[in-house]
Amino acid sequence: MGDTIFGKIIRREVPADIVFENDDVLGFRDLNPQAPVHVLFIPKKALPTLDDAGPGDAELLGKLQLAAAEYARQEGLAEQGYRTVINCNEHGGQTVFHLHVHLLAGRRLGWPPG
Ligand code: C5P
Repeated sequence: MGDTIFGKIIRREVPADIVFENDDVLGFRDLNPQAPVHVLFIPKKALPTLDDAGPGDAELLGKLQLAAAEYARQEGLAEQGYRTVINCNEHGGQTVFHLHVHLLAGRRLGWPPG
């Protein structure tokens, strides 16, 4: 896949407000937050979109979601609640083609999303 801005964030070539890291996942604050808490969780091993994921990526996808849940618990967000979202391709609203999970919290979120 081609490199993206998120690859540069992983390599610390561009700054980001990193709030979570483990061996497989990096979490950083979204530059254009859509809620009081808006953190992106990305795999260090890049996949462009969810559509590119296969059976071999099952563990990594689980680790991404668990990273978001762990962060939410750490930050005391879980009791009131939060949302995780993966946008895929054009109609899903994906703009950066390095798979990422959005964690949105800190306000009551509407449904359905726009
Ligand atoms: O799901 P989607 O691809 O649209 O999400 C990309 C997200 O990455 C956007 O919410 C955008 O604000 C964020 N972003 C960022 N820092 C960058 C580039 C994009 O937080 N340097």
